[in-house]
Amino acid sequence: MQRRWRFVLLVLLLAGALPNVSVRAEEIVLTYKDGKKEQGDLVSQDFDHVVLRVNLGGNMIDMKVPWDRIEELSNGMTYDLMQKKWRETNKDKLCTVCQGLRTVTCATCNGTGISAKNTVDCKTCAATGLVPCTTKGCNQGKITCPGKCLKLSEGTWYKGKEDLMWKRFTFGGGYVEWSERHLGEVIEFQKDKYVNIGKCPTCGGTTTIDCKNCKGVGKVTCAVCKGAKKVADGVAPKCPDCQAGKRPCAACKGTGLKQE
Ligand SMILES: [Zn+2]
Ligand SMILES: [Zn+2]
Ligand SMILES: [Zn+2]
Ligand SMILES: [Zn+2]
Ligand SMILES: [Zn+2]
Repeated sequence: MQRRWRFVLLVLLLAGALPNVSVRAEEIVLTYKDGKKEQGDLVSQDFDHVVLRVNLGGNMIDMKVPWDRIEELSNGMTYDLMQKKWRETNKDKLCTVCQGLRTVTCATCNGTGISAKNTVDCKTCAATGLVPCTTKGCNQGKITCPGKCLKLSEGTWYKGKEDLMWKRFTFGGGYVEWSERHLGEVIEFQKDKYVNIGKCPTCGGTTTIDCKNCKGVGKVTCAVCKGAKKVADGVAPKCPDCQAGKRPCAACKGTGLKQE
C-alpha cells in the first residue's frame, strides 16, 4: 500500500514538472502604454492577459498583464495578431455573428463608446479631443536629439565667415571648426584630431527626435473627455452599455466559437 502511494506521488510530481521541462519560456521585453518596460519570461498569453515571469529581488513572480495596458511585446506579438492567429486556427468553429471576434459593435453608441446624452463641449480641449503635449522638452512633438550631434543649442557658437555660426574644437595641435551647415553631424575625437563622422545615427541628422509621449504630433488625448470632445457632468460621457464601443457577443457568450 505504502509503495503504491509513493508511486502515485512520483507520477504527480513528474506530471507537474513536465511543462517546465518541455516548454522553455521565451525571454521578452514588455512595453506598457505609459512607456515603462518590464523584462521577463513569456509564460502564456490569452485573450485577456499576457503572463510574464519576472525576477523581483530574486523571487520569480508571474505577473498577469491585461492587453489594454500593453503597448508592445519585443517578440512582435500584439493583441490583434494573437487574435488573428486564434481565428485562423479555429476558422471552422467561429461564431457566425461576431466572426470569432468575441465582441460586437455596441448599438447604443454606434461603436463610439460615448454616450450622446446630456453632453456639452469639453472646455479643456476646446472640443478638439486633444491638448498640447506637456512632456519636458517637447516642442511641437519634437525633442532635442540625445545623441552627440552638432546642435546650435549646445556648446559655444560664434558668428564667423559667410555670416554663419561656427563651433570651434581645440586640441593639442590647434583647432578645427564646423559651421551650422553641419548641424546633426557628429564630431568625434579620434587619435589626435577631431573628425566629422557624418549624420547622427540617433536623429538622422535632423537634431531632433519624435517625442515618445505624443509620438511626434505635439498633442495628446484630452484627459478630461478622453478624446470624446464632449463631457457630461465634467467627465468623459462613457456609454453605459459597452466597453469602448464593443460589447460581448451574445450569440457565442463572448467565446468567439459556435455554440452547440
Ligand atoms: Zn459571437
Ligand atoms: Zn456603447
Ligand atoms: Zn542627433
Ligand atoms: Zn510630446
Ligand atoms: Zn477634452
